[in-house]
Amino acid sequence: MTASTAATIALEGRFARELPELSVPWQAEPAPSPELLALNAPLAATLGLDAAFLRSVEGVAFLTGAALPDTATPVAQAYSGHQFGGFSPRLGDGRALLLGELRDPDGNTHDLHLKGSGPTPFARAGDGRAVLAPMLREYVVSEGVHALGIPSTRSLAVVATGRVVQREVEFPGAILARTASSHLRVGSFQFAAATGDVELLRRLADHAIDRHYAHAASAEHPYLTLFESVVKAQASLVAKWMLVGFVHGVMNTDNVTISGETIDYGPCAFVDVFDHAAVFSSIDGGGRYAYGNQPVITEWNLARFAETLLPLIDDDADRAVERATGALGEYRAHYSEAWIAGMRAKLGLAGSVTDEAVAPLATDLLHLLHENRVDFTSFFRVLASVARGGDRPAVLEVDAIGEWAARWLELSPDAGVMDRVNPVYIPRNHLVEEALTAATAGDMAPFEALVDVVRRPFEERPGLERYAAGAPAGSGPYTTFCGT
Ligand code: AMP
Ligand code: MG
Repeated sequence: MTASTAATIALEGRFARELPELSVPWQAEPAPSPELLALNAPLAATLGLDAAFLRSVEGVAFLTGAALPDTATPVAQAYSGHQFGGFSPRLGDGRALLLGELRDPDGNTHDLHLKGSGPTPFARAGDGRAVLAPMLREYVVSEGVHALGIPSTRSLAVVATGRVVQREVEFPGAILARTASSHLRVGSFQFAAATGDVELLRRLADHAIDRHYAHAASAEHPYLTLFESVVKAQASLVAKWMLVGFVHGVMNTDNVTISGETIDYGPCAFVDVFDHAAVFSSIDGGGRYAYGNQPVITEWNLARFAETLLPLIDDDADRAVERATGALGEYRAHYSEAWIAGMRAKLGLAGSVTDEAVAPLATDLLHLLHENRVDFTSFFRVLASVARGGDRPAVLEVDAIGEWAARWLELSPDAGVMDRVNPVYIPRNHLVEEALTAATAGDMAPFEALVDVVRRPFEERPGLERYAAGAPAGSGPYTTFCGT
């Protein structure tokens, strides 16, 4: 059934009800003049929401938190977080609300969440608001990441509030409505652990198991199994980022999900020319969250998660540490396995080619791409044309790439396999920037076109050449600013 009035949208308040210590009941700040700028109709359909309703005045009021079903219990969630390595015990949703959980027609549960909905008790010095461009950035990049087959929160809508938001200069304000399989973060566990209330921590862990890793409930050691499951999910996630050149930009523990979904698209970007040290965020001068650091940062974040779970893993503190350390020790193997499997597909290599052969071939290639400043995304499509026996394009003539290609061709790569995993279209930095600049000036057409393009990343379409091209020559280093 499709919900077509706010009253018929069944928003459960499970998190609010089961974990009242981890949230504060709160209401959205009214938007003076709401205008729907982007609506994800395919996602609405998946959720069982009527897109025509969401476009109506009442629907837009729903999407800004102004007109919720009577039964809804919106809350600001509490969480802690290690930000750039330093622990902040009290972060929480300073400008966001969990409206509740939606059950889709297939029975899957999704959090419905607003970002930019006004200050909450966690706002500290912040104004609780969000600027239009970063909310549209989250929308288009998360849509692209999802289309690439990478677990992610999804963007349902962006509504301009009609309020001016003061930053360095004035910007139009907006609210992003997004969904996630949950908003449980490593930081949620850090907050619960810091209270010293082990029963609260257990309730949170049971909630996480129930929502994401039901098999852990009947395991011999449920909380160790929860940890192992998150280790696997996060290893797989970061491997997927690496395989498409995605740089999250702010991998603080409050931005790491228990589900293994990508969350909180702030200063994120995709590498253009391949560079292990690529950093785009203006606030990451030290390069803590550089492209090549992401796998080891994930491991560090998982260690912080493990620390929170120790009292649940074993009553004996030493044994708990031993068990958690053992489980964390599996991370590198999970990561390597996921990464090699991904590189095998990117290079079109059959299962009969051993991992021991794929790994050095892939590593040597990345080294060459780095040395020669080759556009990471375009390269693999060009390579598929070489696998098809086409002329060797100019990109393969530089330095030692020709030699590398000869080694690779001996393994009989399958171009069809390559084209199914190597995207033609990603949310390229210069295209995202162009779309956001136009949107801020009132023209949504480039944004809509870009969303449309990145939703079908693998199928080359005539007329879209400019979306497949690398960064314009001489465009200089790309810098992103934290999503505020
Ligand atoms: P983020 O960088 O979006 O992951 O946010 C980090 C923390 O800062 C979270 O606790 C946010 O809720 C909070 N925060 C970010 N921007 C604002 C704002 N404009 N007003 C209030 N809180 C904010
Ligand atoms: Mg965040």
